[in-house]
Amino acid sequence: MRKAERFRRFLEYFTTHFPEPQTELHYANPYELIVAVVLSAQCTDKRVNLVMPELLRQFPTPAHLGAATAEEVYPFIRSVSYPNNKAKHLAGLGRMLTEEFGGEVPSTIEELQRLPGVGRKTANVVVSVIYNQPAMAVDTHVFRVSHRLGLVNRTSTTPLAVEKDLVRYIPETLIPKAHHWLILHGRYICVARQPKCAICPLMDFCKYYAEHFGSPSTPDSSTEPKLSPSNPDSITTSTT
Ligand code: SF4
Repeated sequence: MRKAERFRRFLEYFTTHFPEPQTELHYANPYELIVAVVLSAQCTDKRVNLVMPELLRQFPTPAHLGAATAEEVYPFIRSVSYPNNKAKHLAGLGRMLTEEFGGEVPSTIEELQRLPGVGRKTANVVVSVIYNQPAMAVDTHVFRVSHRLGLVNRTSTTPLAVEKDLVRYIPETLIPKAHHWLILHGRYICVARQPKCAICPLMDFCKYYAEHFGSPSTPDSSTEPKLSPSNPDSITTSTT
């Protein structure tokens, strides 16, 4: 199947079934979102949502955060991954937002990437979610799912390469939504260790499915050993 056709079917499925996807991080303004996204690196959104209310009670604005030391921030985020580094980043982020950006979260990738703890992925999330710009943030879910589906080149082994492959085929207006679609699909269906292929609505055009289980619409009649979609670690032999 050609790549353009995979993209067409991917977009068709999600625009029909999940037309308005949202981030699962809780936030009320750009400041709260950027803090939440910094905390969410290698951590679950659920965990971040648990620590955010108390953190925001203590540091409700960039100025409050910027006036704090990393040691003062640490106790409120100790249960997220890498709390020492993230406490340093958040204190620095508050300071820079206050001193260089008038307490506002900037709207360009270049400015955002100057902030402590903000890499390209975080910057893309912020401009996409807050400013609805056509930026594709590539996290572990986006990377894995787009490779499995066959939306990106096998040779695209970096987040930036995957980002470029995706934005080439997805219409600009759908890029912010496609980011959420790939994340949510990776979080709940196409999970890392055992993708739930047996219940996946995308199996008809998924490259991984075709390579591991054969085509779902034209059952494989060979006697080649195949993985079972309900248990990708198992090996079964087709007898039909
Ligand atoms: S069929 Fe399996 S590998 Fe393909 S997208 Fe669905 S869960 Fe992921």
